Amino acid sequence: MCPDDLTTQLKAEAQRLGFDLTGATSAVEPPRIGAFQQWLADGFAGQMEYIPGRAAAYKHPKHVLEGTRSLLMLAMAYRTEDPAEPAAGQGQIARYAWGTDYHDLIRKRLHTLADFHRELTPGAAVRGVVDTAPLLEREFAELAGLGWVGKNTLLLNRQLGSWFLLAALLTSETLVYDEPLTTGYCGTCRACIDACPTGAIVEPYRLDSRKCISYLTIELREPIPPELRESIGPRIFGCDLCQDACPFNHHPLPTAEPVFQPRPNSNPIGLAELLRLDDAAFRQRFRRSPLLRAKRRGLLCQAAYALGNRPDRNSLLALIEGLRDSDPAVQEACAWALERYDSEESQAMLI
Ligand code: SF4
Ligand code: SF4
Repeated sequence: MCPDDLTTQLKAEAQRLGFDLTGATSAVEPPRIGAFQQWLADGFAGQMEYIPGRAAAYKHPKHVLEGTRSLLMLAMAYRTEDPAEPAAGQGQIARYAWGTDYHDLIRKRLHTLADFHRELTPGAAVRGVVDTAPLLEREFAELAGLGWVGKNTLLLNRQLGSWFLLAALLTSETLVYDEPLTTGYCGTCRACIDACPTGAIVEPYRLDSRKCISYLTIELREPIPPELRESIGPRIFGCDLCQDACPFNHHPLPTAEPVFQPRPNSNPIGLAELLRLDDAAFRQRFRRSPLLRAKRRGLLCQAAYALGNRPDRNSLLALIEGLRDSDPAVQEACAWALERYDSEESQAMLI
C-alpha cells in the first residue's frame, strides 16, 4: 500500500476510534533533546527516576520500536464540565482524573489501530504507546502539526486548548508527514506563569517538577515538604491552574467519551471521608481511577494538608482520628493540619 493511502486510512480509523487529532511525522532525533537532557541534568525530574533511568532511549523512537520510520501522533480530548469550586471540607482533583483511568481505554484503541495497520500492511512493525514509553510525545505531536508547546510546557491546540491526552502509533512504514506549525501562539501572554502558585514554571517553557503540585501530589513518594504544603491549597491530586489560566482553554470542544465523565463525588471531593478510608476501602473506592496512583498514604496526607490550608470545623473529628492512623505519615499530616486550627479542642489533642 502506498504511503498516501496508508496514512489516509490510518487517520480515518484513528478518528473512528475516537482520537480527536491525528498527525504524522518521521522518526527523528527530537529537535529539543538537548533541552530535555539539560532539564534532567538540573534535577528537574525530581524523584521520577524512570525518566533519567532511560535517558538514552529518548534520543530516538527506534528505542521504543526497532525500525520505526514514522509516528502517527494522536490526541484525545478529555474536557467535560466546568470545575466546581470546593466548599469548606472539600478538595480539588485535576480534571483528567475525574473519570475512569484512561490508560486502558487508549491502550485498547491503540491495539485496534495497530491490528488495522497490520491488516493493511502485513509484516509491518507497529506499536502503540501512551505515557509510559521513553518518547517525547509532546515534541513529536508538535512535529506532526497537532499544536505547539506553550510556555507552561503543555501542548496547545487552537480548538482543544490543552485539555487532551497524547498517544502515538509507531510504525516501520513510511507515512505522508504533516507540517508542524510555523509559529506558536503564546506571544506575550504569561498567564500560566503568573497563575502558578509555586513558581514551578521557572521560565517560559521550563518546568521544575519538584515545585509542581502535580508532581508533589502524584509522583513524590514521600510526604510533601512542610514549606510547600500551603501552596497546594485545596488540591489533593494534580493541578489545573496553569491550564485554567490559558486563554486557549476557555472555550474548547468538550469530549463525548463516557470514560472522562466525572464519577460521583470525584471533584470536589469530601476530605473527611477520605481520611476515614482504610486500605481496603481506599482500593475499592478508587478502583480503576487515576487516583489510585497516589496510594492511600499520599491521598490521605494531601487531604489533611488541604484541611490545614482551609480549616473546616466539620472535618475536625476526622483529623483528630487521623492522629491514630496506622500510617505515621498520615498521623504527621493530621497533626500538621490541626496546628492550623485555632480551636481549643484541636490544640488539646496535640498536647
Ligand atoms: S500544574 Fe500547577 S503547580 Fe504545576 S506548573 Fe501548572 S500551575 Fe504550577
Ligand atoms: S497561558 Fe498564555 S503563555 Fe501560557 S501556555 Fe497559554 S497562551 Fe501560552
